[in-house]
Amino acid sequence: MTQAGPDAIVLGAGVIGLSTAICLAEAGLRVLVRTEALPARTTSAAAAALVGPLSFPPGHAASDWERVTLVEFTALAEVPHTGVRIRSGLLAARPGLPPPPNSEFTAGLEPADPDELPAGFEYGFRATLPLVDMPVYLAYLTDRLARAGGRVDVAPAESLAEVARDAPLIANCTGVGAHALVPDPEVHPVRGQHVVVENPGLETFFLEAPIGSAWAGYFPHDDHVVLGGTASVDDWNLAADPAIAREIQNRCGEIEPRLLGARVLAHRVGLRPARPTVRLEVEEIGAARCAHNYGHGGVGVSMSWGCAREAAALLVTGWSGGAGPPTVHPSPVEPG
Ligand SMILES: Cc1cc2nc3c(=O)[nH]c(=O)nc-3n(C[C@H](O)[C@H](O)[C@H](O)COP(=O)(O)OP(=O)(O)OC[C@H]3O[C@@H](n4cnc5c(N)ncnc54)[C@H](O)[C@@H]3O)c2cc1C
Repeated sequence: MTQAGPDAIVLGAGVIGLSTAICLAEAGLRVLVRTEALPARTTSAAAAALVGPLSFPPGHAASDWERVTLVEFTALAEVPHTGVRIRSGLLAARPGLPPPPNSEFTAGLEPADPDELPAGFEYGFRATLPLVDMPVYLAYLTDRLARAGGRVDVAPAESLAEVARDAPLIANCTGVGAHALVPDPEVHPVRGQHVVVENPGLETFFLEAPIGSAWAGYFPHDDHVVLGGTASVDDWNLAADPAIAREIQNRCGEIEPRLLGARVLAHRVGLRPARPTVRLEVEEIGAARCAHNYGHGGVGVSMSWGCAREAAALLVTGWSGGAGPPTVHPSPVEPG
């Protein structure tokens, strides 16, 4: 890459940028990821992160992205050191609220018995879904990209036109950063805060659905549990608020009392890149072809592989660099 320059520059090193970069690099392209923040400092690192339940009905383009991604994460749960594991848990709604939309399309969701639900919840579903320890997963993606020859540089883009001078292909995966970079006023932040506590022995997750501005959810990983959460529209503040953190722990403690006294290990804040619809399309910028892949809101992890593959396929269709157009194949899950 140092001699000839990259075939593709991917902007952004969150879950969307890294997944897209891997699809391109594993298809044989020389890929450079340029980012403002390293993976551990992105919104993606702050996510819980549950993959599913499916939130779009069959036939919707986003439904295909979700299905492809669910299959990929289910396979990744078999691979060591990815941070992905299959967990059982409950999705539960408070009285008067609708069931999670389209939940009937997610395989393995079963109505829960009333005596399984915590006080204050009217009905719910038992679910078994991939749960992702995001800092571990982002490190796995970064390593996988490096093994495919890709590189991550901290080098924020000032404009897409500037990037177009350095590579024939661009993937714009800047999340909420697209608001200023494109610029796209339709992208706006929905701030979320989580608290990470020591795991007092939990093995099942809980998620209040639908999610409002303040909700209860806990997601156990090996030694820690991620507690949520909040959803605060048009709030750009990345600092953790200690009062909100106490409220989150108390809300979760009402459902699972062992969480009340659990030692706090960390606070995480992220800005969900909300947009009326995901932007996944190609735009010609100067001599370069740019695939936009941003605006995934609160389901970016759950759509990551489906969107990454489609963005990569949009870029390489008609690509005339190198030794001929590479094929974007389903990203393989490597053993070990
Ligand atoms: C609290 C919380 C809980 C969540 N839980 C879930 C969940 O359970 N399941 C789920 O599917 N989703 C969940 N999400 C949503 C998910 O985290 C996001 O949809 C996803 O992380 C978006 O990924 P991204 O790569 O687009 O954005 P980001 O992770 O924000 O990455 C954007 C990247 O672009 C870079 N960038 C920005 N501007 C520029 C620029 N000018 N030049 C170069 N680089 C730039 C940034 O530095 C960063 O590297 C949650 C989000 C939050 C906040």
